[in-house]
Amino acid sequence: MRQNIRFVPIAHMADGSTGGLHLHDLEGSLGSGPTLGVCAALHGNEPTGVEIILDFARAVQDRPFRGRLRLLPVANPHAFAAIERFTPIDRVNLNRVFPGAKGGTYSDQLAAVVSREFLDTVDALVDLHSGTDRPTVDYSYLLNDEGLSRSTMARILYRAEAGKKGTTYSGTSATRLQENGAPVVVVELGGGIADQAPYVRRGVAALLNVMRYLDMLDEDVEERNDQVIIDSIELIRPTQGGFLEVEAPPLGEPIGGGAVLGRIVSPYTFEELEVIRNTVPNGIMILSHLSRNLVQPGDYAFMVGNLEGHTQ
Ligand SMILES: [Zn+2]
Repeated sequence: MRQNIRFVPIAHMADGSTGGLHLHDLEGSLGSGPTLGVCAALHGNEPTGVEIILDFARAVQDRPFRGRLRLLPVANPHAFAAIERFTPIDRVNLNRVFPGAKGGTYSDQLAAVVSREFLDTVDALVDLHSGTDRPTVDYSYLLNDEGLSRSTMARILYRAEAGKKGTTYSGTSATRLQENGAPVVVVELGGGIADQAPYVRRGVAALLNVMRYLDMLDEDVEERNDQVIIDSIELIRPTQGGFLEVEAPPLGEPIGGGAVLGRIVSPYTFEELEVIRNTVPNGIMILSHLSRNLVQPGDYAFMVGNLEGHTQ
């Protein structure tokens, strides 16, 4: 395997440093094949994906494979260093401004370089996200290649459709890939105040399985038979701030309508301020908190998928 790490400069920053990106190219020893791109930390407060790419790069060191891996472990270095979702330079969400613009805000300029040097150069993309610093999440998007999404081994696959309840956005890495006609999957895995090691291990296993799916490894694709495809997700937010005490079942488990997801308790008076109930009649847990976290009114507390009309 041949390996090349390069630094792509973007701009001279006001503090004298050079803003830029580190890109890794790993060339397999089995000859020609697709170029698989893997990126993380488009949102700087989602470091789990960075860990996944680090361990993945170590895992493929001695494996013969076809084609090339192009890794962008930290897509938004300033946000990553600050552990913030948005780019600290301009307070912009990098994953809403693709393909970016040379003369735009710093995030636009960053997006333009990510597009030119990375997104527009790969034959398939895995974009790693997580539940940020407090919530923990576990699902994969089903966008333009069902087999690719299935190969990430997530139990829950979310087929986002414009106009449906849940999340469809423009200006993302995924919309760029879809415009390019290249297969893409967005993986939402890990995060929160919990040991990330199990999520990192699953992320590495997912990336190896994606390589099998793309015929980069001479191994059969692993499949799991309990995958469900859902097409709507309810985001359930608290209306009060305080400690969130969770009573919801683990991620990937079903939950009935009206069931208690959690309670908001005042750290000041100790009184129970709110009981948060599941609003999805036939639900499945997608995002939750694994520790007693402090939340503001309106924060991400829970995501519950709608199993009504789901397909296997
Ligand atoms: Zn994200």
